Amino acid sequence: MSQRCLECGKRRAIFGKNYAGLDVRQAVRNSNTFGFPERYEALTLPGDPQKDFLCAKCANSRTVVCSVHGPIKDKFSMGYPPLCVDCQYEDRDKKAHPHTQRVHSLSSDKCDSLRFTDPKHNFTIDIPEGWKAQPLVEKFDRTGGRVAFQAPNGQAIVNVSVGTLDRPEWADLSLRRKSMVDFLQRARARYANDWWEDMGEIQLGGEKNTVGFVHRNAQGYARIVSAYHDGLEYVIQSQDNLNREYEVVINRIISSFQF
Ligand SMILES: [Zn+2]
Ligand SMILES: [Zn+2]
Repeated sequence: MSQRCLECGKRRAIFGKNYAGLDVRQAVRNSNTFGFPERYEALTLPGDPQKDFLCAKCANSRTVVCSVHGPIKDKFSMGYPPLCVDCQYEDRDKKAHPHTQRVHSLSSDKCDSLRFTDPKHNFTIDIPEGWKAQPLVEKFDRTGGRVAFQAPNGQAIVNVSVGTLDRPEWADLSLRRKSMVDFLQRARARYANDWWEDMGEIQLGGEKNTVGFVHRNAQGYARIVSAYHDGLEYVIQSQDNLNREYEVVINRIISSFQF
């Protein structure tokens, strides 16, 4: 594949995502996290993804338009097209908590991300530009913590841990889901968590034995995604602030996970 951008001629950066030939609507459709692909005005970026390279900056010279909400402020980032935040929250806002705030999309000109590769368990996950890996606190390290990283202003964190299941029967997806629901219900009583939602049929790195929840706590919104893969449980947890502005980028990080 060409290592120079077909539009600006700049050399491809290490980990630089390729946007050549990206079909926006199809890319939204393929990601099981983001809704309403039919609302995106049809746009396919130039080039052949097998042969050409198109950089994030050149991809971002286009404006992607949501037919309901207008031009999308988000950028092409981490290999994904800009996503309409209003569409994403449309469903959720119907069941919204009174404290729910309107979401602002994160806009950044820095679109390339770095990739973390775990030397022990061989998974990879993308870390957005500007986010920083954190030293692992001892307890997290002891309990299988592999990596933790934080948004530039410290208002969102994501971490990944890997280990054996606390109970072998949790290899069964429905039993694991039930145990997590039990936990959230207990936490709800204890910390007055007022809202949580099952993320439904999700996959982590293609693994279908995956369950995830979003819930609200005192700090903001937290996610927990648990995949059981080759005898180990892979858990991604995130916490963001009350503005929910990080949800788009956190969903992208989770989607970037590969075994
Ligand atoms: Zn370019
Ligand atoms: Zn929209």
